[in-house]
Amino acid sequence: MPETSESDERNQREVWAREVVARLHDDHAPLTDGVPADYIPELADVDPDTFAISVAMVDGRRVGAGAGTHPFTIQSISKLLMYGLALETHGREAVMRRVGVAPTGDSFNAILLDEDDNRAPNPMVNAGAMAITDLVVGDSIGARVDVVRSLYERYLGRLPELDHHVWASEQATGNRNRAIAYLMLSRGIIEDRVEETLDLYFAQCSVLVTCDDLAMIGATLANHGVHPTTGEQVVAPEVVRDMLSVALTCGMYDYAGEWVFTVGIPAKSGVGGGILGILPGVGGLATFSPRLDQFGNSVRGVKVFEEFSAQFGLHLFDPGRPWRPSR
Ligand code: GLN
Repeated sequence: MPETSESDERNQREVWAREVVARLHDDHAPLTDGVPADYIPELADVDPDTFAISVAMVDGRRVGAGAGTHPFTIQSISKLLMYGLALETHGREAVMRRVGVAPTGDSFNAILLDEDDNRAPNPMVNAGAMAITDLVVGDSIGARVDVVRSLYERYLGRLPELDHHVWASEQATGNRNRAIAYLMLSRGIIEDRVEETLDLYFAQCSVLVTCDDLAMIGATLANHGVHPTTGEQVVAPEVVRDMLSVALTCGMYDYAGEWVFTVGIPAKSGVGGGILGILPGVGGLATFSPRLDQFGNSVRGVKVFEEFSAQFGLHLFDPGRPWRPSR
């Protein structure tokens, strides 16, 4: 029966994915290049050897290797989810007035604005992310933190915890972000509750997730915004399209061009060591390993994505087989 063969094929693919994920984990565990982020003092304390690879399919199946349930701070991966929230709450036009969609080719914390249009360059660099955070509705920091936590709740299927040490550490040392935010205030890009918005931005970055969580977020985005296990429509499909577009072009910061060239999967990284990749219609792939390269991307994570993409032919423009007219 065709149904059986389809599920046989899915089972077969799951077995294959399990083998590949286990092999990629073993192959890359000895790789110790890079260093964990230390510009946020609390982040320097993580165990640099912790390593996980997780896959979640759109039908809710999971495959993984390593420390898939180890918690770490989501950091910049939050920017992707927050961008979706802003688009849903305020609409594309209002968001585009403050934040563009062009990659910068500069570091994630560059003090850089889109001067022509007087807006932040894109939502995946700190400037754009803080302009997006500024759009979170609420009349107190507590109310706005609740909005952010309930966004995460829908993606994670549970209310998330914040790492209060990392949050406080960034509040205490985040002066570069402060500089960017005040520059945006001076240009009228954000409103004048700057310290509160910075605080909220640091809070959204300090949310604790696991690699398994990230894979399921990826599967939700891959599944047109419907969470594979709760069934909830977490985000509208047309918003997912916008989220994945900027993830593809800007998600890996100034490595974005090479990333699209070699991996070809929309993705977002964070200095906590996580990378979230989305395979539309298929599932989410996530890695966690805290040692970072000069761009702020996880070293092992980038390698695993490269090989996973090649192994399964997942590049967006994978040649596949051409259609030929019959003669
Ligand atoms: N909280 C970090 C910062 O603002 C996030 C950066 C990142 O993950 N690239 O510097």
